[in-house]
Amino acid sequence: MKILVINAGSSSLKYQLMDPDSGNVFAKGLCERIGIDGKFTYKANGQTIIDAADCPMPTHKEAIEAVLSALVDPKNGVIGSMDEIDAVGHRVLHGGAKFTESCLVDDACKDAIRECIPLGPLHNPANLMGIEACQKVMPTKPQVAVFDTAFHMTMPAEAYTYAIPYEYYEKDQVRRYGFHGTSHRYIAQRALAILGRTENPEGTKIINCHLGNGSSLCAIKDGKCVDTTMGLGPLAGIPMGTRCGDIDATIMEYLMGRYGYDIKEMMTILNKKSGVLGISGVSSDFRDLEKAEAEGNERAHLALEKFFYEVRKAIGAYAAAMGGVDAIVFTAGVGENGVSNRARVMKGLEFLGAKLDPERNNTRGKEALISTDDSKVKVFVIPTNEELMIAKDTQALAK
Ligand code: AMP
Repeated sequence: MKILVINAGSSSLKYQLMDPDSGNVFAKGLCERIGIDGKFTYKANGQTIIDAADCPMPTHKEAIEAVLSALVDPKNGVIGSMDEIDAVGHRVLHGGAKFTESCLVDDACKDAIRECIPLGPLHNPANLMGIEACQKVMPTKPQVAVFDTAFHMTMPAEAYTYAIPYEYYEKDQVRRYGFHGTSHRYIAQRALAILGRTENPEGTKIINCHLGNGSSLCAIKDGKCVDTTMGLGPLAGIPMGTRCGDIDATIMEYLMGRYGYDIKEMMTILNKKSGVLGISGVSSDFRDLEKAEAEGNERAHLALEKFFYEVRKAIGAYAAAMGGVDAIVFTAGVGENGVSNRARVMKGLEFLGAKLDPERNNTRGKEALISTDDSKVKVFVIPTNEELMIAKDTQALAK
């Protein structure tokens, strides 16, 4: 089977053509600057074949057309014709509380995604554009929507309820939703498989640390999400590359009063100028921060320490929430590759029974057990694969 996985942003569109059974990726790439001047990349069998600027793509429809024409190109394509694509899977950011799992796209599904636009104002309209572009270009192919929020819908009320007047939950759906759900779900499945508990997940307690440019932790009990650090939107939780994570709401009132910022300016500061970038003034990229720290930059050091401290604290909180922890997993850019980052997060967590093995921890980008043999808590690196999860859901629903 061949599934086209699409992740559409407002002016970009990432794609992968893959086999959901083997995970084999036939081709992938990115359409950027849609509606501006257009940039198109296409990689097949691990090689970059097209990397072209000035490829006008006025809308997402032309972007999808460019993807398809690259895929079926007689010289560099990976399929003979569009007929070989069985279905299309779309990443959708916000499913509100409506979507507890992925769904086959029909008018009702699209209406529900549209209804969630106030909750995901930046992403959901773009996700819908991706879906509608594919419907126009490939009207007969089944399309599936896979939601970033769906995995978290098993949280208990005490985890998802905010301590503000309850009417805002009842009338306005203000609650914790959580994101990176497709990644957390993939890791939950892999971790359970490694632990030999796929068939009997009851009683397992896993904490997944998805640490990348955007970061979130997820407490996974019995294979299901019971808490996660992101909230109504993806700004909440631990500090991130440029996002502030949890802060005292008073800060907003105070700074808006002092500098006359309107809410839009304030949100831009919290979304784009905060996190480890904001503290360090150096970069949102963890490799740059480590380099600056090694050169004696104290704010880069503080930014990293703040990040590790908050991740460590969230691990402790989730161990308390679940009454223990069997496994801690690191995933995404920093989690998969940041050897010293992982060691610094884990420092001080020995009281939980989690002991890192420095040699085993010296690994990047592949599945590995990185705790000692006598560690009560197993610590793993598991590279995430959201696209595979989307492809598998699409395969199951398209059948
Ligand atoms: P992601 O958003 O999952 O793509 O992760 C991006 C983040 O991963 C960036 O902050 C990178 O600096 C970080 N990253 C990638 N490789 C490494 C590495 N070898 N060591 C530390 N951080 C890394």
